[in-house]
Amino acid sequence: MRLNSKDTELRERARQVIPGGMYGHESVAMLPADFPQYFSRAEGAYLWDYDGNRYIDYMCAYGPNLLGYRHATIEAAAQAQAQHGDTMTGPSEAMVVLAENFVSMIDHADWAMFCKNGSDATSMAMVTARAYKDRRKILVAKGTYHGASPWNSPGLKGITAEDRAHIIYFDYDDLDSAREAFRKADGDVAGVFATPFRHEVFADQFLPSKEYAVGLRALCDEADALLIIDEIRTGFRLSRDCSWSIHGVKPDLSAWGKVLGNGYPISALLGAEKARTAASSIYVTGSFWFSAVPMAAAVATLHEIRTTDYLERTVAAAEALRAGIASQAEACGIAIRQTGPAQMPLILFEDDADMRKGSFWTGTAARLGVYLHPYHNMFLSAAVTPEDVEQTLAVTNEAFTLLKKSLPTLPPQTNQILAQRLQMRRSPS
Ligand code: PMP
Repeated sequence: MRLNSKDTELRERARQVIPGGMYGHESVAMLPADFPQYFSRAEGAYLWDYDGNRYIDYMCAYGPNLLGYRHATIEAAAQAQAQHGDTMTGPSEAMVVLAENFVSMIDHADWAMFCKNGSDATSMAMVTARAYKDRRKILVAKGTYHGASPWNSPGLKGITAEDRAHIIYFDYDDLDSAREAFRKADGDVAGVFATPFRHEVFADQFLPSKEYAVGLRALCDEADALLIIDEIRTGFRLSRDCSWSIHGVKPDLSAWGKVLGNGYPISALLGAEKARTAASSIYVTGSFWFSAVPMAAAVATLHEIRTTDYLERTVAAAEALRAGIASQAEACGIAIRQTGPAQMPLILFEDDADMRKGSFWTGTAARLGVYLHPYHNMFLSAAVTPEDVEQTLAVTNEAFTLLKKSLPTLPPQTNQILAQRLQMRRSPS
């Protein structure tokens, strides 16, 4: 029996002192009731809630956990730096080492700047692009996520049209639409944001065509605008270089975050030589941007990325999980769609407009100790072992079996907030 009594108590206390009880993407308001909101501990591939339940975790803190929670090498590097100092009146040597190492690993990059969150890095990219030729327009594909600042937040409450006055939207994976956006900007394009693959919530994931990637590069070159790749979610999960290196496309700027310190708070903007003067001319800073501990953690993380088979191991575990889930679904006669790279999987059910099946299946898995997500892409860390995959598959099999039994009487989506959100997606006003 998983009572979640301590978690429930924490949520009740939070409602008194935290607006709405919780905010942002880590709120469990749209997840099934079996998902805990708070965690007491994390180690390797596992999380523990406050009621003592362990979960095999396939969200990785929404991305940052690349190598495993509390990875020994990263923890040792962070703790060694902490003995000397963290937030000081200036950065430590780790900043220079980190910039040198990062730049040496990423083909397009000649320089690096560091900040805290992905939103800092994308905003810094936007300002750098505008500074490059003193232009204003920023092109963004509709529905792509680049952070929670007023110019790009998916929520509109508290945001004014003026916050986005110089953002022009175009359709993802549609070069004609991008061309039209350039035309509309009439010579005033500062930069174009590119997302390596489509990873929107509630929708199947897909890679854009090579022509799109190459075409965006060519449009930017013709206009002398900067191509900015947002690697915040994808960075080092697809490749050890920028994701579009598979297409031979090099951006002028790339924004990184999440995995960079394997959980320690640090993000970065990398740039090519041609954007260096622009980057030197803008005013960007933050009280904690120069802290040494996350930088030491990032130096150690990049070393692991360069010198271990973390990616190959992660992909192998991810493919085994994907294959196992596919055969279980088929055996049960339940149609699902597994999309995106196996190591960043999304699993949606066919004929599930109100997500009653997805909620039941992931809710059951959570109750049985596996933390999956019903509508956001998931993440695997390199800490997931073949035994974890086996244990996970035992749980997903049981969840499929229970779902099959319950299907004839499965009630409509019981989570009202999720039901409303899905209704809004189906009929946008
Ligand atoms: N860009 C992308 C593609 C992201 O996935 C995210 C975070 N989910 C961000 C930007 C913003 O990063 P952060 O939440 O660290 O500000």
